[in-house]
Amino acid sequence: MTRIAFCGLGQMGAPMARRLVEAGHEVAVWNRTAEKAEPLREAGARVAGSPGAAARQAEAVVTMLATPEALHEVVRGDGGLASGMRPGSALIEMSTVGPEVVRGLPEMLPEGVEVIDAPVLGTVLQAESGELKVFVGGEREAFERWRPILEAMGTPLHAGPQGAGAALKLVVNSTLGALMVGLGEALALADKVGLEEGLVLDVLSDSAIGVTARSKRDRIESGKYPPNFKLELAVKDLALVADAADGCDLELRVSAAARRWLTEAEGAGSGNLDYSAVIAFIRGQAASA
Ligand code: NAP
Repeated sequence: MTRIAFCGLGQMGAPMARRLVEAGHEVAVWNRTAEKAEPLREAGARVAGSPGAAARQAEAVVTMLATPEALHEVVRGDGGLASGMRPGSALIEMSTVGPEVVRGLPEMLPEGVEVIDAPVLGTVLQAESGELKVFVGGEREAFERWRPILEAMGTPLHAGPQGAGAALKLVVNSTLGALMVGLGEALALADKVGLEEGLVLDVLSDSAIGVTARSKRDRIESGKYPPNFKLELAVKDLALVADAADGCDLELRVSAAARRWLTEAEGAGSGNLDYSAVIAFIRGQAASA
């Protein structure tokens, strides 16, 4: 049993924190919008009034926040983690923020706080069932030390030193954006050449893009895109991919094209829909939640 603080109870964080409670850990939770913590209180967590207050007694602090800006606010803002974490404790950073942001964390925190990155692959269903893939960056020893906590949420994979988990997550998400936009373009072409949507989806479902087509088929056919992974977060991820590529002088043309489609879809008001709503945008169709 470990004393854990969990900050960020969004679509992913809430079920992940719940699994830690159910695994028998002593969990303190904090979320900017306080109401979202209530179901966790009912499940047995302690609700804290600030990230720092959640972290005060914790051996490990988990963050699962939207963006690098949100993470910085939670670490350095008033009553933030920097004011509450104790030397000897660990920050397990599970949001998608990229390796540079992860490497900047230790200097914001008290000396003696260990930082490991542990972003996840999988979405809300996998968060609920504890079947996320967790990409861990840090010393092998730290990986082994925190493995039992991570195993309550999914399957941890040691990716390499600090930042390697965050880097691997960007590599994976660069393909997710490209696949979704590729599917949108294929369907837009099918519309224009006069093919029937159901037939096209049947064929694509059995093709190289099958996983993507099958998992989003209900949304495509209904025009309703309730978010699992918000489009605005996909835009954020592709900005992080672009930053990482720029940093090593690499031109990623497909990823840049996917980013452009997603950014335009966000500008048209789809930011809070599932990122697959970019398909409706590319096809010139309406999309709602
Ligand atoms: P979400 O539902 O939008 O939740 C975002 C969380 O960040 C909420 O707790 C939100 O608080 C908090 N937040 C946002 N801005 C903040 C600020 N300025 N200060 C403090 N807290 C702030 O997002 P999610 O889907 O759970 O995703 C969380 C992270 O995991 C993201 O980095 C995302 O890219 C990544 N991820 C998501 C998925 C997925 O399928 N959804 C899969 C893998 C990885 P409020 O409740 O107050 O808004």
